Amino acid sequence: MTDTIFGKIARGEIECPKVYEDDRSVAFRDINPQAPVHILIVPKASIETVRQIDREPGIMDHLFAVANKIAEQEGLAEQGYRLVVNMGPAGGQSVYHLHVHLLGGRAMTWPPG
Ligand code: 5GP
Repeated sequence: MTDTIFGKIARGEIECPKVYEDDRSVAFRDINPQAPVHILIVPKASIETVRQIDREPGIMDHLFAVANKIAEQEGLAEQGYRLVVNMGPAGGQSVYHLHVHLLGGRAMTWPPG
């Protein structure tokens, strides 16, 4: 089991206002937002990184579908948005429970930092 802050939120052990929840995932606002909209979509299953997605077949499809739904709810569908998955130290991952970042509400730049 991943015992991270996101695992505790996903299991309901820590209170956190959710923007979305279903049987396989939860979503909540990032504590340190990098854009006007910055939401994290997190699987309930214990998955440390994107390299372990085989543990729950179809989980990335599900997380991306949820991200699209939330983006629509947040009014981002027309202007666009960015979905990010960081992997490992060089990828900038700091919490080792898989999550998709949904970023929007401003124009994104490329390349990322
Ligand atoms: P990573 O760097 O692993 O891709 O992203 C982790 C994200 O989680 C960061 O953007 C960070 O601001 C956010 N974060 C870390 N701890 C908490 C927390 O306790 N609550 C919330 N809502 N976000 C958190």
